Amino acid sequence: MLKKILVLSLAAMMIFSANIGVAAAEAGNTQYSITQAQGFTKETEVKRVIDPDKPMVALTFDDGPSKYTPEILQVLKENNSEATFFVLGTEANRYKDTLNQIIENGNQVGNHTYNHEDLTKLSDEDVYRQVQGTNDIIYNVSGYTATIMRPPYGASDEELNKKISRPVIKWSIDTRDWENRNTQMILDNIFNNVKDGDIILMHDLYETTAEAAKIAVPKLIEMGYQLVTIDELSRYKELPLTAGKQYYNMYK
Ligand SMILES: [Zn+2]
Repeated sequence: MLKKILVLSLAAMMIFSANIGVAAAEAGNTQYSITQAQGFTKETEVKRVIDPDKPMVALTFDDGPSKYTPEILQVLKENNSEATFFVLGTEANRYKDTLNQIIENGNQVGNHTYNHEDLTKLSDEDVYRQVQGTNDIIYNVSGYTATIMRPPYGASDEELNKKISRPVIKWSIDTRDWENRNTQMILDNIFNNVKDGDIILMHDLYETTAEAAKIAVPKLIEMGYQLVTIDELSRYKELPLTAGKQYYNMYK
């Protein structure tokens, strides 16, 4: 009997905290307060502290989530690091648990449209559907509000950026991982170019990319880089993100 009461009150508490999560999300919260509201305790983890005076880069992973995303999440977590995942609406619906894991681990999620169409070829109405529809899917699956956007193929101009009406995040290092599917070539593209404030483009769709992440994450840290989200990069470099503007890097 006692056990039953305990289970019931636990269930009640879970419903209660889930409601807080929804209420907080509707009040236009940030990813950080959602994480707190949903009760993901981080007490057992080493506290992550970013030193604004030390070099930092943002790893970004597009087109997922996929079956390889958990391996990338694992290496990030093991190294007390965070990255940004620009997800597709179709894949967010397919890999709901993985999307939630990305967020629970403290990573940032960005919008990469519903099904990877070239937005420069779409009507205004379809651009709106691709962008807002994907934000809606991310929110429905996870309670998380994506605040940044990356257009497929990096294809956008000033006019389209305004229509997207969010900060548009491009990149300064292209690993060409979708093309080379070669772990060593991905690593070479990173390590021959990396510098403070870089935004590095990868895709969490390929085994070769997951393998490259397993090597690159600890090696970048060993070199003195802090691996941060786009929001963190913007905050610590004191370069605020503005809706309708595009960003290739965060060099100071
Ligand atoms: Zn893409």
